[in-house]
Amino acid sequence: MADDAAALSISVGPITQARAHDGWASAFAADLRYPLVTIMKACVFKAIGAPLEVIELPDPVAGPGELVVRVKACGICGSDLHAATTAKAKLPSGTVMGHELAGVVDQIGTGVSGFERGEPVVVMSYLACGECAKCRAGIGVRCEAMALIGFGEAPGGYAELIKTRPGSVFKMPETMSFRAGATVEPLVVGLHGLRRARFQAGETCVIMGAGSIGLMTLLWARFAGARAIVVSELLLDRREVALKLGADAAVDPRMHSPAAAMTRLTGAGPDVIFECIGEAGTMAQAISHAPRGGRIAILGVSMEDDGFPPALAMSKELEINFSLGLAPGEVETAIAVLASGRLSTNAMITHSVGIEDLPRAFAALTKPAKQTKVMLEF
Ligand SMILES: [Zn+2]
Ligand SMILES: [Zn+2]
Repeated sequence: MADDAAALSISVGPITQARAHDGWASAFAADLRYPLVTIMKACVFKAIGAPLEVIELPDPVAGPGELVVRVKACGICGSDLHAATTAKAKLPSGTVMGHELAGVVDQIGTGVSGFERGEPVVVMSYLACGECAKCRAGIGVRCEAMALIGFGEAPGGYAELIKTRPGSVFKMPETMSFRAGATVEPLVVGLHGLRRARFQAGETCVIMGAGSIGLMTLLWARFAGARAIVVSELLLDRREVALKLGADAAVDPRMHSPAAAMTRLTGAGPDVIFECIGEAGTMAQAISHAPRGGRIAILGVSMEDDGFPPALAMSKELEINFSLGLAPGEVETAIAVLASGRLSTNAMITHSVGIEDLPRAFAALTKPAKQTKVMLEF
């Protein structure tokens, strides 16, 4: 433990000693001026362009109505990379990022029932307030005062422990791996997108972008019984992953129109276009790819103006749905489908790192890379 501590930048004096020397800890505990505080490792954002840093923080303590979960696996998400490299995202220095995680219940605050210490859970990316009408009715996914974890509003999962609330915590079967549990959050994003587009068995779709959200959408489209799926993606490695996961065709949009590829496959344009990129102009592209009467679901989060032509969307009578939130039951559905093995996200997890290696792995991902989903594991 002491040599671990030496390798880290240590932010707290007496607290560090409390863990490094257990004898001292009990001495501190006996002396009320030094209540026993244990510490955890966490990986924090420092500044745009600077590497993440592994530091030590006091363990979170579950207050009334709260739970503390011991993190077992946490995925690195494209929006983490985006937030850490884009000034517009205004990520505060010192933020513990990470919002795709699974672990075990570690502490149960007063007034919380229905959880047991040590049971495996998925922690969702939002923090339900626990007090609004929706939370009191047991539907934390619709919380009226929702905060996001991992982006500065509340600490995220790049840490040994995370404080959360029951409305954001979902039980997962013992038989399911924590790695799989950590893919529930992005998987739910894909499921919600399919539902927003009312995608049905026998329909066809174009998926723009084969990052993790695009690939999760692909998994659900197959699961839902798509007749044909065309993926549009700039990077060759990602196109190959998309084909491996069941796309019928994967095109480089600089060379081939995905809508034309769909017409070659089925004789008609796509019923639905899933925009899973979120860059300036990608909405306009989705509109240009859509046939008359087509449906578009926008899953890619863009901070930029898009500038799409309303007249074109109107002349095609497109139906455009934005997809961000989640509906009650969707998290449970994603967990059940993963646990039963009817859908697997395993092939998407290409690398796993410990917390000490997370800053290096994170920096590598900020450049176009082969990795699809990198998992922090404890
Ligand atoms: Zn994410
Ligand atoms: Zn609430």
